[in-house]
Amino acid sequence: MAYEITKTKARQVLDSRGNPTVEVEMSTDKSQVRAILPSGASTGIHEALELRDGNQNYHGKGVLRAVDNVNNIISREIAGMDCRNQKEIDNLMIELDGTVNKSKLGANAILGVSMCLTRASARELNIPLYERIGQLASNKRLILPTPSMNVINGGEHAGNKLDIQEYMILPTGAANFKQAVMMCSETYIELKDLLKRKYGMNSINVGDEGGFAPPLIKPEEPLELILEAVDELGYSKEIELGMDAAASSFYQNGKYLIGGEKISGSELGTLYERMLNKYPIVSLEDPFAEDDWYSWIRFTEYFKDKLQIVGDDLLVTNVERIRQAIDKKACNALLLKINQIGTITESIEAHSLASKNGWNTMVSHRSGETEDSYIADLVVGLGTGQIKSGAPCRSERNAKYNQLMRIEEELADKTAYQGRL
Ligand code: PEP
Ligand code: MG
Repeated sequence: MAYEITKTKARQVLDSRGNPTVEVEMSTDKSQVRAILPSGASTGIHEALELRDGNQNYHGKGVLRAVDNVNNIISREIAGMDCRNQKEIDNLMIELDGTVNKSKLGANAILGVSMCLTRASARELNIPLYERIGQLASNKRLILPTPSMNVINGGEHAGNKLDIQEYMILPTGAANFKQAVMMCSETYIELKDLLKRKYGMNSINVGDEGGFAPPLIKPEEPLELILEAVDELGYSKEIELGMDAAASSFYQNGKYLIGGEKISGSELGTLYERMLNKYPIVSLEDPFAEDDWYSWIRFTEYFKDKLQIVGDDLLVTNVERIRQAIDKKACNALLLKINQIGTITESIEAHSLASKNGWNTMVSHRSGETEDSYIADLVVGLGTGQIKSGAPCRSERNAKYNQLMRIEEELADKTAYQGRL
């Protein structure tokens, strides 16, 4: 029968770091679709649980328990159901799990099925995935996003001494997505030459997200180098900067260990202020640790009109945490990572709540990624206008940018590239 789920099956495959991850396959009479799960390194403590086996294989990182949960529990429950009932099936999986953080079945089991549902229903309805997501989110404004490309990696994503995790370029002045990609790629290659000249061949090794991992220490140094490359290309009007401090990863006993110093939340705020005054930074993610609400609130009070202050570990794509942050005025933008929460329905609700409260949403990859380009369709379907998927390097990163270029071509004049944040 049309729309009926006939089979759901999971298996263990590998992600971009070489660790096991879950792949789910779903069949209907008409087609078969797949989804592969990403995985974070600087994960927030409030994220939904990624179920790992913890045995001797793959250093404990196997996901065969999550695979079994799909094959033996979820697949039986949803067999014969209508794949268009995304919300109903997502809620059924949440109930089957019965925990607050999806620790029984694993968010990696549940999300794989949830992603397949969107894909299977799109196939059955004969529409592209982004359009199906637009339907589910009741969004008619499909938008090609501004990419935030992470060209210098630090923190837990690289083997260098930089504490700030991501230094990003945002081509806010590009005319369309294709041009945005070109500007970012040119800047990336220019930066590569610059690093090679100044610091030698070792400085152009790349981190988990494809950005360079040069032997720098001071938090401002990467910004200087990126701007030098941008200036060299004549893109200073078109390219602005963003950072993800991922500050939870350098927070210890109430202090932040950054650039060789141990400082307080308010001193860290002053360091950011100096950087904001000197460089064209328009987006700052996780400037403080995930439960250091006081520092978030104070910083947002001062800088909310100057830039986008993005909550990642703070919010973990969780409606309850987002609601708290809205009430406390702790930030003004959401980082949306589908595997932080574990279903597509809850991810849509997270964006919808953020958007209703005047926040921006940046859709995001994880540092451990795969060839699955689902989030490219997601960002267009939700119409959030922003995505980060790492540097324009390494195919698991470019899979998303390449899919967005295809979508741009497909939509031609039916949609707009937003450019600004
Ligand atoms: C991030 O912190 O925004 C990120 C993409 O890293 P990870 O996937 O390691 O959490
Ligand atoms: Mg982050």
